[in-house]
Amino acid sequence: MAEAPAAELPRESPVEPELREVGRSLATAFPSRARHPLRALDAKAMERSAEDAELRAALFRLVDVTPATRSLDDLARHLGAYLEDVEEQPQPLRVAMRMAGSAAGRRALGAAAAASVRHMAHRFIVAESPHAARPVLGDLWRAGVVSSLDLLGEATVTQAEADRYAERCREALDELAEAAPGWPERPLLERDSSGPIPRANLSVKVSALTPLLRPDAPDRGREDAARRLRPLLLHARELDAHMHIDMESLDSLETTLELVFELLEEAGLREGPSVGVVLQAYLRDSPAHLDRILRFAGAADRTPPLVVRLVKGAYWDHEVVEARQHGWRPPVYERKADCDRNFEALTRRLLDARPLVRVAIGSHNLRSVAHAIAYSRASGSSDADIELQVLRGLGDDLQHALAASGFRVRTYCPVGELVAGMAYLVRRLLENTSNESFLHEQARGVSVDELLAPPA
Ligand SMILES: Cc1cc2nc3c(=O)[nH]c(=O)nc-3n(C[C@H](O)[C@H](O)[C@H](O)COP(=O)(O)OP(=O)(O)OC[C@H]3O[C@@H](n4cnc5c(N)ncnc54)[C@H](O)[C@@H]3O)c2cc1C
Repeated sequence: MAEAPAAELPRESPVEPELREVGRSLATAFPSRARHPLRALDAKAMERSAEDAELRAALFRLVDVTPATRSLDDLARHLGAYLEDVEEQPQPLRVAMRMAGSAAGRRALGAAAAASVRHMAHRFIVAESPHAARPVLGDLWRAGVVSSLDLLGEATVTQAEADRYAERCREALDELAEAAPGWPERPLLERDSSGPIPRANLSVKVSALTPLLRPDAPDRGREDAARRLRPLLLHARELDAHMHIDMESLDSLETTLELVFELLEEAGLREGPSVGVVLQAYLRDSPAHLDRILRFAGAADRTPPLVVRLVKGAYWDHEVVEARQHGWRPPVYERKADCDRNFEALTRRLLDARPLVRVAIGSHNLRSVAHAIAYSRASGSSDADIELQVLRGLGDDLQHALAASGFRVRTYCPVGELVAGMAYLVRRLLENTSNESFLHEQARGVSVDELLAPPA
């Protein structure tokens, strides 16, 4: 199926007035910045690094190197070296550079750098283990927020690593199934018009379930991942837990979709568990991917309905660099507005496809979220029949506003050690400090009306 040419995507959504109303109402429910001095400080640091490419590069290199450094002195040496590349150094950086010149200064600077990387990581990573995450998940639930646990650690290289990841997933499912029954009743969080929604929810990555994921030999990767994913799905069915299969870079998309479709057709998996896949709107071919997902959902003789999480896509830089290296046209839209308009077009198609699928909108962009809510309402659906999803640390304010406004919002909660979380952390930092990102615009103080304007 041909891609939707960006020029043919409608410039405006059919629900602009309702969208603005929903967006403004959500904006007023955002928590006040003054109540979160630490977060306001983070926002300032992010803003500054978004404006300064060298400082941004220094920050990423520091995040990369922190887990591998042997001592605080070592860490400070790295920091000093990275900061030398920053041409126009603001006052705090000049102080940092001077500190890196002496052993005592280096120790202090190393401690400060390690603490700030850890602080940054803890904003995005909830705990080191599923067990340690239990209080956070319980608190979220009591605050009207559902969660999806994500075990950090992706792209395994050996069979032993993949076995270990599968084992950790099994333990996480057990941990969730033990914790969830203790949470108080919350009808909005555990039921929609298609029926009950499991309280326990785990997101997994196929690249962590097999070291054999290669586009030139898709069958080997798929079979190897299936041998670990199948028992996990059976276990999730026993525990009444939902499993969501994340989508990664384009070279694993085909294997991921085929793997999920094949397993869900197996006799033992027709009556459960609840399972979800991800659709990435930055891909020019995403309308065709949606056709395929809906064809599968329509033909599969299975309950409960497949959940489709619509996102823009987290591997934009990777896809562009990879394509350019080969002299190919990037498989992703290259204008942010085209990606945003495609996201809205896919949102409408997905919402129209209910109850064949359950729809989850994964975005921190107030316009993208308000559009989904307004369109869902305009089609006569209950607010319980759309789920909004955010990432821990990036979408906290939106999460708060959505829960306070009576929507079911699910927060994606990464769990794991700092070292394993580095790839995740760097992706989130890239996202947060990109000039075109919604969160950057919002932090810059762009007005709500401008934030809600049609993508152009
Ligand atoms: C709960 C949850 C789960 C997620 N799971 C996944 C997953 O499984 N797989 C995955 O890939 N991502 C996943 N993401 C991340 C998601 O894809 C986005 O990267 C992230 O949410 C930022 O998009 P936004 O709508 O919040 O913000 P916005 O600021 O509106 O959009 C930023 C996004 O726009 C796109 N973009 C940026 N620049 C350009 C450009 N020049 N041209 C075209 N497009 C551009 C990129 O996709 C970028 O991430 C998830 C997000 C959430 C909230």
